[in-house]
Amino acid sequence: MPSLAEHLIRWHPLNGRHDLPWQQRRDPYAIWISEIMLQQTQVSTVIPYYQRFMQTFPAVDSLANAPLDAVLALWSGLGYYSRARNLHLAAQRIMQEHQGQFPESRERIQQLPGIGRSTAAAIAVFAFGQREAILDGNVKRILARFFGIAGYPGQPKIQKLLWQQAEAALPADHRGGLIEIYTQALMDLGSTVCTRSKPQCDLCPLQPQCIAWQQQRVAQLPAAKPRKPLPRKETVLLLLQHQQRLLLEKRPSSGIWGGLWCPPEMTIGADAVDYCRQQWGIAVQSPVEMPALDHQFTHFKLRIYPQCLDVAADSRVASPDYIWLKPAEALELGIPAPIRSILMQNFSAGKLPLGKC
Ligand code: SF4
Repeated sequence: MPSLAEHLIRWHPLNGRHDLPWQQRRDPYAIWISEIMLQQTQVSTVIPYYQRFMQTFPAVDSLANAPLDAVLALWSGLGYYSRARNLHLAAQRIMQEHQGQFPESRERIQQLPGIGRSTAAAIAVFAFGQREAILDGNVKRILARFFGIAGYPGQPKIQKLLWQQAEAALPADHRGGLIEIYTQALMDLGSTVCTRSKPQCDLCPLQPQCIAWQQQRVAQLPAAKPRKPLPRKETVLLLLQHQQRLLLEKRPSSGIWGGLWCPPEMTIGADAVDYCRQQWGIAVQSPVEMPALDHQFTHFKLRIYPQCLDVAADSRVASPDYIWLKPAEALELGIPAPIRSILMQNFSAGKLPLGKC
């Protein structure tokens, strides 16, 4: 009976995806950028971001030499901003420690910031044709179903088992482009056939040997993450405006929205007029409360209460970490997704709702 790898290698030429923009080049830099963008993000969302990113930073030196702000601005909307900060840092390491050459072994690639074992393996496979196993979310799902592995894949002992299966399933002969075809086939099968909900088992080349299919456990595998309710947090964002401009603050590089530009934050329940006087010595008129907005992070839910405040004409906030910008200019910067939607909903046509505040 053919092995899992043999099934996939035969299936891929007619059924896999062959026209993704990062498949056009065997360039470790391009493959790295695509692999990082594809983490937790759909292919269709990634493509325009990838194309803009590669036009602006076509090679590792251009990324390493760019200001972090420019990188974050291009990333704005993709979320998980630590990915962009790590890309920037890793590009600088490649220039300084590897003389601008992408390292070739999976172990050395994995030592760069923000690159885990599976991503390092994918780069080693697609850029250098090495025989390495990947284990991203799609592959975990396929292997858990194919081998009938119960338990949540995030659990260390299940993860270890999945890695063992991923390595054992590699094609024995990886030369002649077979490892690339096999790895891409796994990714494609997970995205298009063995999907999380409504997998198309009737179209799957693995069906005859798939344990989940044989035992009618497809819907139960892989096991879902044990659910704990996410903690809830609340915050106030101060939309301070002066002469059609908004005040934005640069967030510290660590923590949520690290390194992005954001309206200043205030503790819930504090008085905005007192807060602005104490914090920046500025006089503001009474705030106008705007509709609350909910945003979910991986580890908690955040309810944002935006308040709109007019700042007295002679007020100044002077510091490199603050900037006054028109809303349209703010949208060009690296700003978090919920801030982007607040600006787009409330400041249409680049105009602040003066008179409301
Ligand atoms: S038969 Fe169904 S569950 Fe099994 S690997 Fe194929 S698509 Fe996934």
